[in-house]
Amino acid sequence: MTVIVIQENALAVTLKHLSITEILDSIALTTGHTNRVMLDANLASTLNELLDAEWVAQYKMYYEHNEPQFHLTLEVVKHVLHFYEPEEKPKHNNCHKINTYLKQCVRTRKSAEVVTAEGQCLYLIPIPNHRGEISSIFCLGNLTENTHNDKKFIEGYFRIYRNHLKILNISEHDCLTGLLNRRTFDQNLGELLAEWHKVNDHSDIEHQSYPVRRQIHESKSNWLAVIDLDHFKQINDKYGHLYGDDVLLLLANKMRECFRSYDKLFRFGGEEFVVLLRSTDQTGAEAALERFRRSLESYQFPNHEVITVSIGFAESHNHASPAQLLGQADEALYHAKNLGRNRICQFKKLKTTSAA
Ligand code: GH3
Ligand code: MG
Ligand code: MG
Repeated sequence: MTVIVIQENALAVTLKHLSITEILDSIALTTGHTNRVMLDANLASTLNELLDAEWVAQYKMYYEHNEPQFHLTLEVVKHVLHFYEPEEKPKHNNCHKINTYLKQCVRTRKSAEVVTAEGQCLYLIPIPNHRGEISSIFCLGNLTENTHNDKKFIEGYFRIYRNHLKILNISEHDCLTGLLNRRTFDQNLGELLAEWHKVNDHSDIEHQSYPVRRQIHESKSNWLAVIDLDHFKQINDKYGHLYGDDVLLLLANKMRECFRSYDKLFRFGGEEFVVLLRSTDQTGAEAALERFRRSLESYQFPNHEVITVSIGFAESHNHASPAQLLGQADEALYHAKNLGRNRICQFKKLKTTSAA
């Protein structure tokens, strides 16, 4: 696929009908959001509104076997906003070769104007995360008229958005490990679970036919896992606090490697971490947590020390509050510690074991 770079004023936007006040209002509205999902959705809707783009989409990036992959997270098409689940197929099939353009944008780290083989004019804007890596790309689709000022407007709008993100990032992340911090966990857990539950809402299961019921029972769910380093105090005492900090940093890197981009990773406090595993079944959740446990256990630390973690996890049900869910995962963690550490333990299985 050839990517054609359009001339400087070939970008198509119609801003002429907007007053400065309307533009300022839209900026204030967008940057008024501190919730990421709302912020990104608002930005996409606003751009769809202000510019004459036929669609605006956001793609999140992650790596699989060292190759960048993209997940369409949200899209505004003709003023209608749609959120996508991981692995959900795009409803509007906007551009067949979008991945080629997205990859190019990640490589250059610069905004790009391209014309697709279908003749669509696209504008791609890369967004870095708190570690300076490109983590998402906004794409404005099928712009129709073109002026140099319009392009300046889009770039200016995104400069404000990126500045806003920088401030959000500082407040949301732990400064040692770069994972989300406890404050973000406390503020967002309820909202996040409610959002995820909407997708996994099976309240009408009784009214479904047998094949549908069967499918629902086998369908994906969300999980909360609490991870705690084993005998970490001894490691600190033996090798010093700075070495302990390096271990925490390495553990965070292993978490980023082992879990998927749409799972949420938190440093909960001290040597405790939380993972919210999204949209997977029990086997998938267990496999991911086991993979992480094993990868830490087999890591060669400079002092030849074997460092391990214990993990407790629980399934998130619609009726359980965030505090109950955390309590269940904590109870499972407590059992994992009591059973000898360096293992994973599921809350539901504790119940079955004690009832038997
Ligand atoms: P267990 O297997 O039962 O979890 O034992 P543990 O030693 O890991 O647990 P304990 O709660 O007794 O000790 C936790 C230790 O974690 C104590 C504290 O020094 C250490 N710790 C907490 N936060 C940090 C940190 O930011 N950096 C370092 N280096 N150590 C930390
Ligand atoms: Mg510990
Ligand atoms: Mg602890």
